[in-house]
Amino acid sequence: MTIKLHNTATRQKDVFTPIDPKNVRMYVCGPTVYDRAHLGNARPVVVFDILYRLLRETYGADHVTYARNFTDVDDKINARAAETGREISEITEQTIGWFLEDMGALGALEPNVMPRATHYITQMIDMIEVLMAKGHAYEAEGHVLFSVDSWREDYGKLSGRSVDDMIAGARVEVAPYKKNPMDFVLWKPSTPDLPGWDSPWGRGRPGWHIECSAMSTELLGQSFDIHGGGNDLMFPHHENEIAQSRCANPDGNFAKFWIHNEMLQVEGKKMSKSLGNFFTVRDLLDQGYPGEVVRLVFLQTHYRKPMDWTDKKAKEAEATLRKWRALTEGVEPSATAAAAVLDALSDDLNTAGAITELHKMASEGDAAGLLAAANLLGLLTPELGAWAEGPNVDLSGFEAQLFAARQAAMESKDFSEVDRLKAAFTDAGLEVRMSKTGVELVPGAGFDMAKLDAL
Ligand SMILES: [Zn+2]
Repeated sequence: MTIKLHNTATRQKDVFTPIDPKNVRMYVCGPTVYDRAHLGNARPVVVFDILYRLLRETYGADHVTYARNFTDVDDKINARAAETGREISEITEQTIGWFLEDMGALGALEPNVMPRATHYITQMIDMIEVLMAKGHAYEAEGHVLFSVDSWREDYGKLSGRSVDDMIAGARVEVAPYKKNPMDFVLWKPSTPDLPGWDSPWGRGRPGWHIECSAMSTELLGQSFDIHGGGNDLMFPHHENEIAQSRCANPDGNFAKFWIHNEMLQVEGKKMSKSLGNFFTVRDLLDQGYPGEVVRLVFLQTHYRKPMDWTDKKAKEAEATLRKWRALTEGVEPSATAAAAVLDALSDDLNTAGAITELHKMASEGDAAGLLAAANLLGLLTPELGAWAEGPNVDLSGFEAQLFAARQAAMESKDFSEVDRLKAAFTDAGLEVRMSKTGVELVPGAGFDMAKLDAL
């Protein structure tokens, strides 16, 4: 099977050939751990989970190494600790636990290695020393900076910008000690109240970019197959990773393939706190959206297109999954996923095309084929299925009760009984869907049948 992936570095779909098929290596930039992951943070996790699953399917589960880091030293974490009076380690530990739990709920496999930046400070210091020795970095006022001019020809190639363009368009604060405004921090001094480590440049802490260069080299080598992340990381983060790694390890190629996913929107708008459409993965799960539904909604959009999260899509995905789960109940999956599904995934992770094939199998009644293909995509798995088992209860009596109450209220104009029933159903964890033709009660995550006894 030939896998083709869109490589940001070449700006085209390239055939993927691993450096070593016995150990295919992928690095993906992970979260800075100071708060719950929002829905946009989950997109790369699901995208690269699909790529991980495809690589395992193709090269064997034991022949793929997937590393995703936790950034556990960062000024956002320091700020959160200062605001809340909590210990940094307590914040980062808790957030890492949340992240793994929430991403697990979306059916994402855990990477093989999940390095934490604070465990690789020695490797970062070593790499910075190499960069200084080779003339790619300099010390100024307790900071160590990467000298963009020392690598001017190549800096900016991934994102397709020249250093001059970058300077012209930059909104970076220009510190007086920088030789070039685009020079970026490798190491910075820490005051006694901030986390710090001893270094040749005094007590300090790393800049953000150096951790991924140091950890990927340590764990995957100087040349590895795939580097991934959201396209918001392409510049400056990935550009800086490339500069550091290629200058420190000129014999290596760093990453062969650069894969970037597009961003997420909510109901057609950018998700932002100011627009009031900002929510975390946990918010959605708590509102009763099953993780499997979130996953299916994500997979319906190609990773290189903006993904629009809408409530309508979630409802449709839920109905689809209920249907598929009913169809495949008690069925043994076929031995391999259908070629058409693998072909779609191998064509630059065409998950939308793969889902179309799943619909086809469902409509043809091919339950075994549907289950095998869905499992390859991390769907219809036993782990994600608890929501659909739900309480096996007949709610039709309650639906009829509410419908009758509404019919009566239309006549009397007294809606108090309708309101009372709706409130009771909602309180019991049911979603109330009313249309002209009827009433539907859908059990959510926290459904409690006992609360309906009084009605
Ligand atoms: Zn990174």
